[in-house]
Amino acid sequence: MAVHTLASTTGSVSLGPATALSCRECGERFDLAPIFACQSCFGPLEAAYDLPTGDPEALRARIEAGPNNIWRYAPLLPVPEDVATKPNLNPGFTKLVKADNLARELGVTGGLHVKDDSGNPTHSFKDRVVAIALEAARAFGFTTLSCSSTGNLAGAVGAAAARAGLRSCVFIPHDLEAGKVVMAAVYGGELVGIEGTYDDVNRFCSELIGDPLGEGWGFVNVNLRPYYAEGSKTLAYEICEQLGWRLPDNLVIPIASGSQLTKIDKGLKELVGLGLVEDRPYKIFGAQAEGCSPVSRAFKDGHDVVRPVKPSTIAKSLAIGNPADGPYVLDICRRTGGAVEDVTDEQVVDAIKLLARTEGIFAETAGGVTVGVLRKLIETGQLDPAAETVVLNTGDGLKTLDAVAPTTGPTATIRPSLDAFRQAGLAG
Ligand SMILES: *Cc1c(COP(=O)(O)O)cnc(C)c1O
Repeated sequence: MAVHTLASTTGSVSLGPATALSCRECGERFDLAPIFACQSCFGPLEAAYDLPTGDPEALRARIEAGPNNIWRYAPLLPVPEDVATKPNLNPGFTKLVKADNLARELGVTGGLHVKDDSGNPTHSFKDRVVAIALEAARAFGFTTLSCSSTGNLAGAVGAAAARAGLRSCVFIPHDLEAGKVVMAAVYGGELVGIEGTYDDVNRFCSELIGDPLGEGWGFVNVNLRPYYAEGSKTLAYEICEQLGWRLPDNLVIPIASGSQLTKIDKGLKELVGLGLVEDRPYKIFGAQAEGCSPVSRAFKDGHDVVRPVKPSTIAKSLAIGNPADGPYVLDICRRTGGAVEDVTDEQVVDAIKLLARTEGIFAETAGGVTVGVLRKLIETGQLDPAAETVVLNTGDGLKTLDAVAPTTGPTATIRPSLDAFRQAGLAG
């Protein structure tokens, strides 16, 4: 297939094992560049690799000897070889928590793990994808790092840009949770609230890229999206490595644009292809909030096309009404024998509290969505409780306090006296 050489001022760049961008629809290949749509069919582009061949044992040993962050997987990512020496937030290698108490409560007997990405530098999974996009931005010579965000991404971009010494200017819907707004602003970059939904913000950013106003800007999830998206593969790598280099039976993954879910599948397939894990079937389950469930709707209706919706849910980090990767998510969940489910806001809150109460993990609303969906999948017989399951928590509950604040608080408020405490009935 012809490799197009682009009339770009960036010149040719080198990003580790990544050799080209390839169209997910027609397969046409392009030089590595800050582009995201196929020039022939307008399909989305993704990174293509020349991955290390040869002895899987040697590769496994090399990975295990690497740093305790995503750069241990640098041989499988579109990043320069010396990536670990550059200023970056170095996210990843977050905890895989064996969740026996939650398993007991949900009736899971085959083993249950929570992959807890609240432990990343800005407390969400987004640090993974931004770290990769940052390397692409450096390679292409961008001086401003930007994004359209449902909240977490804005904070991750602000922090990564601060550390890398780049300017940042990020765009969010004007009505986000206070915790997300503060996190997006505190790193000192520009933060712009847009009067509209995330989908409006994203459309605005696409216009900005095409305009001289946006020149020199790397939008991590727009013109750098093919690189950004690859960061989610590290979740697949880590889960398998932390399980002792093997695949789980089931994964329950949240869906916003659907990028994370599709790239976790890509990462799992790479591990099989490289001989790093044994090939066996696994099922991927997608999780949405009922108030923004276009992919779940399409799954249940048996459609291949995702009809956009106007989001209305407390799970704002997942509130993308027109998910770019929707059709790919449907394909993966169907092909692997998984499903896509959704839960109400009330079930999200219940699930946040369930995870906190059983495992001591305080998840943001997205984690409430995945745990709530896991419970529903078991109750409706869609997920086998005798199989081994990994459920993702992608963000920190401190960013979405409002979701649980109305239904949590002190058991009692008393005068500082033993008498008052006795009367409260809490002794023993
Ligand atoms: C962005 C985000 C996701 C997943 O987003 P995708 O667009 O589907 O990749 C999941 N959880 C949280 C908390 C997020 O911020």
